[in-house]
Amino acid sequence: MIELTFATGFMLYLCFTLTVVLGFWGYQHYHARKKNIFTHEQELRVCEYCQFAYLEEGLKKVNKCPQCGSFNKNNIYNK
Ligand SMILES: [Zn+2]
Repeated sequence: MIELTFATGFMLYLCFTLTVVLGFWGYQHYHARKKNIFTHEQELRVCEYCQFAYLEEGLKKVNKCPQCGSFNKNNIYNK
């Protein structure tokens, strides 16, 4: 049988508790970071009328400027 002193048992208890807490924190941290990744692709557009830069999904041929409300089409600068 392995004999443990009180100090050794207490140190083992602290190490076990610290390992559990750090493991739980690492698990939560890893999953919280994965949730913040954007899943759809966006492109940087510049409005032809007010020169406002904004992000828009790349599939649309015509998009609306959020600053002035004008409609812009894909041009050579945005490709
Ligand atoms: Zn605009």
